[in-house]
Amino acid sequence: MVGAVAAFSAGIAERTAYAVRSGGPDVVADSRQLEIGGAQITVNLAAGHMDLPAGRIFAWVTRAASAVSMYYGGFPVTRAEVDIRPGEGRDGVFHGYTFLPDSGIVTTHIGVGEHTTEAELENDWMMTHELVHMSFPGMEREHHWIEEGIATYVEPIARVQDGQLPVTSVWQQLVDGLPKGEPAPGDEGLDHTHTWGRTYWGGAMFCLLADVGIRKATKNRLGLEDALRGIVAARGSMEKDWTIEHALETGDRATGTNVLMNLYEKMKAAPAPVDLDQLWKELGVVPAGDTVTFRDDAPLAAIRKAITETPRAKLAPVKP
Ligand SMILES: [Zn+2]
Repeated sequence: MVGAVAAFSAGIAERTAYAVRSGGPDVVADSRQLEIGGAQITVNLAAGHMDLPAGRIFAWVTRAASAVSMYYGGFPVTRAEVDIRPGEGRDGVFHGYTFLPDSGIVTTHIGVGEHTTEAELENDWMMTHELVHMSFPGMEREHHWIEEGIATYVEPIARVQDGQLPVTSVWQQLVDGLPKGEPAPGDEGLDHTHTWGRTYWGGAMFCLLADVGIRKATKNRLGLEDALRGIVAARGSMEKDWTIEHALETGDRATGTNVLMNLYEKMKAAPAPVDLDQLWKELGVVPAGDTVTFRDDAPLAAIRKAITETPRAKLAPVKP
């Protein structure tokens, strides 16, 4: 999730709670400064019981920040904060929310159940999703789909690029998820229909089509990650509110194409359904039960491979 206003009062209340550094041997309340991808990230763990040691929680944030830094060639903002609230009586990661508070430091609030296991942190996607949100400027409400679309699309790719996930899981998730982003009867374009499916998976569909489109237009030299890095390099991040046109034009300038703006013109007001079966065929993605296999003789197989390839400029610092 992402937002700028709604979590305000909750944020202030939670920060006050971090001043409490008390409790018995089972109660953790801890804070750590992480230096990752050129950024300083303050991680605050609120008081409460956790089965896992605090160090394991900090390592989970580190891993997510490392994936995001890999995709963007550096962490997209120089200062960030992650506030973690232990969830009494539950397990797993929940209620991720990223926003810009009065402090001017982009902040993620996220819950971790007290009985969360090592495996649950290992498999978690939400922390990475939230940190991806920090990379893109704040949008008007009607363009929320682009914020969630980028976070949904980039998260597994960043984790694959950082060696945290197998390549198959990116495509398996897209095969599974993208049909939920197709327009339902009566749906309009992405700027006008704000259902969950159109927001998260319709937005992710936009990103996949953009990635393939940029790679087709540049002989597979550049992709969506270069457009998104270009937006960060132009100081576009959650620290700023931009218009969607400014963001997409900035991304297009970084790749020397008009792919983002053309796609936006096509998808913003009209339903624009996508023939996904045809797209999987072209990319050489073959759904196979709960996984996928690949065909390297497919016409766009090279593009499919490039999408999850580890970027050339590994961890190069983001230009100020
Ligand atoms: Zn989100």
